[in-house]
Amino acid sequence: MTFSIHGLAVARGIAIGRAVLVASSRVDVAHYFIEPNQVDSEIERLRSGRDAVVTEIHRLQTSISQMGPKEAPHELAALLDVHLMLLNDDELASGVRHWIRDRLYNAEWALTTQLEVIARQFDEMEDEYLRGRKADLEQITEKVLRAMKGVASPGLVAPSRTLRKRSQQDLLLDDTVDVPLILVAHDLSPADMLQFKQSVFAGFVTDVGGKTSHTAIVARSLDIPAVVGARLSSQLVRQDDWVIVDGDAGVMLVDPSPILLAEYGFKQRQGELERGRLTRLLRTPAVTMDGQKIELLANIELPEDAIGAVSAGAVGVGLFRSEFLFMGRRGRLPNEEEQYQGYRRAIEGMQGLPVTIRTVDVGADKPLGESPQDSAHLNPALGLRAIRWSLADPAMFLTQLRAILRAAAQGPVNLLIPMLVHGSEIRHTMALIDRARVELDNRGIAYGPVKVGAMIEVPAAALMVKLFLKYFDFLSIGTNDLIQYTLAIDRADESVAHLYDPLHPAVLRLVALTIAECRAQGKPVSLCGEMAGDVSLTRLLLGMGLRSFSMHPAQILAVKQEVLRADAGKLTAWAQQVMADDEPGLRILRP
Ligand code: PEP
Ligand code: MG
Repeated sequence: MTFSIHGLAVARGIAIGRAVLVASSRVDVAHYFIEPNQVDSEIERLRSGRDAVVTEIHRLQTSISQMGPKEAPHELAALLDVHLMLLNDDELASGVRHWIRDRLYNAEWALTTQLEVIARQFDEMEDEYLRGRKADLEQITEKVLRAMKGVASPGLVAPSRTLRKRSQQDLLLDDTVDVPLILVAHDLSPADMLQFKQSVFAGFVTDVGGKTSHTAIVARSLDIPAVVGARLSSQLVRQDDWVIVDGDAGVMLVDPSPILLAEYGFKQRQGELERGRLTRLLRTPAVTMDGQKIELLANIELPEDAIGAVSAGAVGVGLFRSEFLFMGRRGRLPNEEEQYQGYRRAIEGMQGLPVTIRTVDVGADKPLGESPQDSAHLNPALGLRAIRWSLADPAMFLTQLRAILRAAAQGPVNLLIPMLVHGSEIRHTMALIDRARVELDNRGIAYGPVKVGAMIEVPAAALMVKLFLKYFDFLSIGTNDLIQYTLAIDRADESVAHLYDPLHPAVLRLVALTIAECRAQGKPVSLCGEMAGDVSLTRLLLGMGLRSFSMHPAQILAVKQEVLRADAGKLTAWAQQVMADDEPGLRILRP
């Protein structure tokens, strides 16, 4: 029977396919398809992993048998027996083989998928003892996964098979192979999400997360339909269920009826047609009807995204979130050379267009996990995050600054500093930038010129914009955080997502203040939060005087269409009225 689960719309479009449930702790497991001729070797790889764990348990059993009851309690021997029994379990083995043989999943993916299937059965058991065996099953799965790490996978060398794109009409509900897959998880960290950039998934749904959480931002940059904050989705959906993800409405439909499938298949094709139509604007300059030139820039997470930014029509990168170079490295930070190479690749990818590299912004919902500075705090969004993290470790910060300055010799680079609040932080940052130059001079290493800018993403910074403009060449408004800190709403918490309002008058006033002061002083100002890519806000921002927008590449053409239809001069008075309103959200959207 069809049922729907409501969440928050994150990345637009419709995806229709089968659910793949992934436990968050296992998302760093590779997900790729193998070729049919690799089935046997993949099953063999799994068998070797399993055998290694069995051997290890036998070894432990032997040493336990030589110990006295004090050193080796009876429970330990019983536990090892249970583990051996689970490793020899037919349902686990045959299930895993099914995912490999019939679906062509790589061994790790097949194993974790089958784990989810069996774990569900354990959850439903009446007997408490048996329910408790789920933890054992998880433990042995982890062990096999670890054992397999040492065994090379043929699929990792071969390029992953991409799913043949099929329209809804081609899909049959009993199809199993070549069907789009929708990932459903309780939670995904930004680093997990990043890992799915090259992945096989056609859509994402998570139980938790806010609209501008970094996980949602990365999902949006993947440009595939996604819904976050869909509460119990990972419990209500079963492995392999047919689902529809409506990324526009923020809804997931489970087990859809044929009528719903047809309706959403139609919507899906309409969306694709609309996107196709927009590509006509690729080479059209972004100029309003009254001749105002508008700069449309890209936000990127990885150097490789630069190529996509150029082909999406961006005239530069307005925000390179450099922290993604620091993630997924098990706590080891990238050294100067590794960072330099990353920045250089982004600069080359932009083919002479400017790249704004933001210094690392970790902390809050972008933890590095194993870093010593990464201990759990009660309010991480108010804690050691972004520039605070960098200033707390000057050696690390200098390494990044040197790498960025060196990369600036390869093409036009702007250096952007996140989350500054205090004058003392600004001066400390500037002193370190000077020191990084001196260090490079002393080492005789070439570097290039950079314009230095600050993010305005804390209300205190917006209110002190004059101070910021004494020091900085340009400003970039980070509305994702500006909204979070102005309204005291955690951007990653779905339970307060309904209060996260970009059109709150206080937010609009801080944005307007920043734009007006920059314009008065003739300094460039851009907006790089998610508001920049929201077409329903383009006219308002134009009316507020904004002329530079930085967003996910996939949004550029839709925003350009709004720009081309707008008369910026006429929008000024309307924007003033909107801002004077007590509840601008009620009246905005069309002047
Ligand atoms: C912002 O806060 O608006 C921003 C662009 O930075 P991030 O989303 O990475 O915090
Ligand atoms: Mg921010």
